[in-house]
This record gives sequence, structure tokens and C-alpha cells, in this order.
Amino acid sequence: MSVSRYLELVKTTKRYGETTAVDAVNLTVPESKYVCILGPSGCGKSSLLRMVAGHEVTSEGDIILAGSNITNLPPAKRGTAMMFQNYALFPHLSVRDNVAFPLKMRGIAKIQRHNEADRLLERVQLLPLAARKPDQLSGGQQQRVALARAMVTNPQILLLDEPLSALDPFLRIKIRAELKQLQRDLGIAFLHVTHSQDEALALSDLVVVMNEGRIEQASTAHDVFNKPANEFVARFIGGHNVIETDSAKFAVRTDRVSLGKKSAGALPVNIRQIEFLGTRVSITVIGESDLEFSVEVPDRSFFNRPFEIGASTFLSWKPEDAHPLAA
Ligand code: ADP
Repeated sequence: MSVSRYLELVKTTKRYGETTAVDAVNLTVPESKYVCILGPSGCGKSSLLRMVAGHEVTSEGDIILAGSNITNLPPAKRGTAMMFQNYALFPHLSVRDNVAFPLKMRGIAKIQRHNEADRLLERVQLLPLAARKPDQLSGGQQQRVALARAMVTNPQILLLDEPLSALDPFLRIKIRAELKQLQRDLGIAFLHVTHSQDEALALSDLVVVMNEGRIEQASTAHDVFNKPANEFVARFIGGHNVIETDSAKFAVRTDRVSLGKKSAGALPVNIRQIEFLGTRVSITVIGESDLEFSVEVPDRSFFNRPFEIGASTFLSWKPEDAHPLAA
């Protein structure tokens, strides 16, 4: 019988004195899925990850991995591995010895640990650089060494704390694709903490949106974007207008509102700002009571009939594009 390798958090709580950083969170990370914890700074996502890694004591609740309660186990005994933001590579050790280091800590003989390290280095295409020191590598290469080192203990789940934030924007997108590919190849779950909406949407099988120590929504990237559970998620994920009427609150995607002719229910608005974004144009308009809306249109339709700043027009949307938000 194969052991299921999912991670389960049961009312997992972290308190620092008076502060509740993680508030009785329930979450299932399915086996072999890419899961991103997404939320603003201070929402508790690192505390949650550190509790799973065993780098932080859990105040209350349980952490179950592959059917075993790991809540109080030391980091090396959990079946988890962590990759840090700054990679935390040892500057005086070679790439090979960096990758082999966790095995050395476990008392594994040199030949065996070097064999294992080389197997992982091959996987991340760095075997030819195994004798180098970390400062002789590019940022992207250092990142892959850190990844190989995290994988060398054969973990059941890989934990990644803002793994791309130290990279420049170009490399970030490249390595992001590599991470996703590696997760697919390895077939284990990745639990990745990020404050970047783009990153979470691009990578995740499951996006977990956190705010003030709680989960606001845990859904596929498609559903988090198209069916945000509430106003917080709609605003945080971006790309939406949150519109309030006397009776309801709803979200309409910025590319699903349109400007132009007066129709039933259309709102009179004034063009405030126009930003060219390459493939599309972002237009900010102001309605009654200074309410602001964003409209995104494909560049071609904008330039076929450009608006001028200060012009008056009407904002409308199709009823089926208005997604109701929980109060
Ligand atoms: P995030 O990773 O989402 O930025 P954190 O988990 O780091 O959030 O922090 C969540 C909350 O817990 C914040 O209010 C933060 O100030 C607090 N916090 C985090 N670490 C500590 C600590 N070691 N001592 C006291 N408070 C902490």
C-alpha cells in the first residue's frame, strides 16, 4: 500500500505573546501538488511555514504529514525540507559539499553522500560546476544549488520561503518555470510562501490566500482570480473592481468592464489616467462620489478609438460578469 504523502494542518495556531500570527488554520496540501500561500506582509505565512518545517514551536493544533503527527518533531525528523529566500549556502564549501551537507549531519559516509549530491546536481544541471564555491555561481545557479541541497534528504514535501524574491525580474520568471517543472518531475508537494500574486497564479495547483492569520480562500488559481471569495481576496489578487450597491457587493474584472455608449445601468465616468502596458492599456476612471474604477482594454481596441484624459463616457458590464462577494 502506498503511503499518502499529504500534509494536513488541524487548527494550527502560532502565538507570539499577545500576537496571534496564525489563527487555528485548517488546510490540506494534497500529495504532489504545487501549493502557494499568498498574502500581504505580516499575514502569518512565514510563521505557518516555519511551524511545518519545525523551526517554530506550534502553539496549538496539529501538523500531520503522510499520516504521522510531526507537530513536535525536530526539523530533520519530519520528512520536510526547507529552501530559504537567501539560499543560506556555506561560502567556504564547494557546491557538492553544500548539497551533501544535510547527509553529513545525518552521519552518512562521504562516498555515499557525494553520490547522492551528484545525482541531485545532475538533476538541476549543475554537475559540471560541483567543485565551485557558491560565489563563483550566478544567482540562478545558487538558487538551484539550494534546491538540490533541500532535496538531498528525499523529503516528502519541499517548503519554500519566498524563493524567488532575491532574483531580478527576468530571472524570477525563468526560475519560476524551472521550479514548476522540477515539482512535476519530482512528484512531491511544494509549499511555497509568496506575497506575489503573479507568482502564486502562475505556479499553483492550489492558492491559499491568507490575511491576519486566517485563510480567506483556498482554491485553484483560476477560481481565486475569477471567483474571489470576498472583498479582501478581490482587492488583493488585483485585476478587479469592487462595486457596492445598496443591497450587494460584487467584483467585476478590469478587462470585463467597458467604456463607451450610454446603456441601461451604465455609470457616468470621467477619464482620469491612461497607462500603456504593451499588450493592453489600463484606464482609470472616476464616477460619482469620486469612486475609482479600472478598465483594461487590448491595445488595438484602445488605439482604434483612443480616449482623452478628462473626457466623459459611460462604464458598463454584463450582468454575468458581476461576481457576488461575501459580506
Ligand atoms: P508574513 O510572513 O506573512 O509576513 P509573519 O508570519 O512573519 O508574516 O508574521 C505574522 C505576525 O507575527 C506579524 O504580526 C509579525 O509581526 C508577528 N511575528 C512574526 N515573528 C515574530 C516573532 N519572532 N516575535 C513576535 N512576533 C512575531
